[in-house]
Amino acid sequence: MGKLIASPLRYLTFVDDKQLFQATLGLKAPWFVSEVKLNKTDKRLDIFIDFERGARFPCPECQSLCELHDTSQRTWRHLNFFEYETYLHARVPRTSCPKHGVRQVDLPWARPNSGFTLHIEAMVLALSDEMSVAGIAGHLNVNEDSIWRILQHYVNEARKDVDLSQVEQLAIDEFAVQKGHRYVTFFYDLKGRKVIHIAEGKGKESFASFVQAVEGRLDPKKIKLVCMDLSPAFIGGCRETFPDAIMVFDHFHVIKLLNDTIDRIRLEEARENQLLKKTKFLWLTNPENLEEWQERKLLQVKDLDIKTAKAYQFKLAIQRTWQLPPQLAKAYLRKWIRWAERCNLPEMEKLAKSIRNHFDGIVESVRQRVTSGYAEGLNNKIRTAFRRAYGFKAKEYRDTMIYLVAGGLQLPIQS
Ligand SMILES: [Zn+2]
Repeated sequence: MGKLIASPLRYLTFVDDKQLFQATLGLKAPWFVSEVKLNKTDKRLDIFIDFERGARFPCPECQSLCELHDTSQRTWRHLNFFEYETYLHARVPRTSCPKHGVRQVDLPWARPNSGFTLHIEAMVLALSDEMSVAGIAGHLNVNEDSIWRILQHYVNEARKDVDLSQVEQLAIDEFAVQKGHRYVTFFYDLKGRKVIHIAEGKGKESFASFVQAVEGRLDPKKIKLVCMDLSPAFIGGCRETFPDAIMVFDHFHVIKLLNDTIDRIRLEEARENQLLKKTKFLWLTNPENLEEWQERKLLQVKDLDIKTAKAYQFKLAIQRTWQLPPQLAKAYLRKWIRWAERCNLPEMEKLAKSIRNHFDGIVESVRQRVTSGYAEGLNNKIRTAFRRAYGFKAKEYRDTMIYLVAGGLQLPIQS
């Protein structure tokens, strides 16, 4: 691939261009480059490939050499040669195998039914790491739909290769596709830290979709632990789908609830207290992640006699639960609940009740030392990718994007 890009265009006029292209395309007998046409006005390069007379080809099914049945003319888009848009042309043979009948042979430069060469597809995959689909499309002068279809193909193939047989722990999380309007549910391999399934919605039906998707590759009865938030739909779905799994409500999800509660209290209070305007970030970020100026700002408000500051203290306090050994954590969390249930902040009292109702699952997260905190990082990456892919239409493309970013896939990058 590199060689083709690196070769100066002037080479074309000096060396035997057929041989040059044969080498850079890696063609072996019976295939050879029969003609190269360079159109300087249209900036277009056409490379014609043919096979030796009387050649026989392996049946794609059993690999035994077979007689030629017929051919059909095809064209593939190839990597640009400098600014020259490049196309390959060949007649594609079909073999007639005594065992498997008439079959199209495997081509060394393209996969079946693709209008693109493997070289350009490899380039698409390599660029997808850094560039938006629109960016790749512009760079290669190929339409966006084609780029999506290439990515989709390789993502789907790579997903088939993901080994789920050892997965015993899952994390489940909801994700807003359109802010607050539509949700999908992500099923993570908790230890592998990757999205293994995307289900529409955030209810029980998401679990059915998961079971169907992993059928034959993962036995739901073998799932021993599920890490998730405290939503009744998830809890119900989990009980039904993974009967032998312990439900765990981890640090990440509990703190998310605390943050939601603090922010509701702050919004209410900010109507009368100007000091609270534009302070959302201060209350919701871990103190150690604040920048110096933010820390200074927090210091000005956190000890004030205001509801938001009080709620914030509850968050700092509950965080200690996960720093303690399980037995102490249990007693500590009980104390926290009793304190929070009588704090005169109705929002916080409501949350304390919910924490009490999910006590075992929270303590379990301390005992098991599991967290799905990394999911937040992945979700941010997905959100960034969404912004980059602004304008992608189909749901399949959306999922392709998510698996690309968070699926931990091994994509075949040709070299
Ligand atoms: Zn055969």
